[in-house]
Amino acid sequence: MIAEMGMAYETVKLLYSKAAWEVDNGVRRTSTSAIAKAMGADLAMKCTTDAVQVFGGYGYTKEYPVEKLMRDAKLMQIYEGTSQIQRLVIAKNLLVRR
Ligand SMILES: Cc1cc2nc3c(=O)[nH]c(=O)nc-3n(C[C@H](O)[C@H](O)[C@H](O)COP(=O)(O)OP(=O)(O)OC[C@H]3O[C@@H](n4cnc5c(N)ncnc54)[C@H](O)[C@@H]3O)c2cc1C
Repeated sequence: MIAEMGMAYETVKLLYSKAAWEVDNGVRRTSTSAIAKAMGADLAMKCTTDAVQVFGGYGYTKEYPVEKLMRDAKLMQIYEGTSQIQRLVIAKNLLVRR
């Protein structure tokens, strides 16, 4: 689980870097940022859920910060474009491009 957290972190960092590079270089492709946002939110949710699991019963309590991190990760799937809406953007871009 720890290894997968590291893999997720590096993957999302690359996605965000690509989206930022495109903005900096005047490339207008909303699907890149939608992919970065959706994937980042989903992987944050997975990593924090796994973090609670690693902590066991303590992970569920407010004694340790991981339960709050898990709730905060959930928010990433909801605000500033829910994960479903990001997927609509991604699918639409794929269909239009073809
Ligand atoms: C802590 C917090 C802070 C926020 N801060 C801000 C802020 O600063 N500014 C601001 O403007 N808003 C803010 N919001 C609002 C946030 O952007 C909305 O909650 C978000 O856009 C989802 O809208 P909704 O809650 O109306 O859900 P709904 O639009 O009712 O959606 C409910 C569910 O249905 C899904 N859904 C909706 N349409 C489709 C579709 N076509 N296909 C598939 N699934 C669909 C959604 O993905 C979601 O899971 C905040 C929300 C929270 C919780």
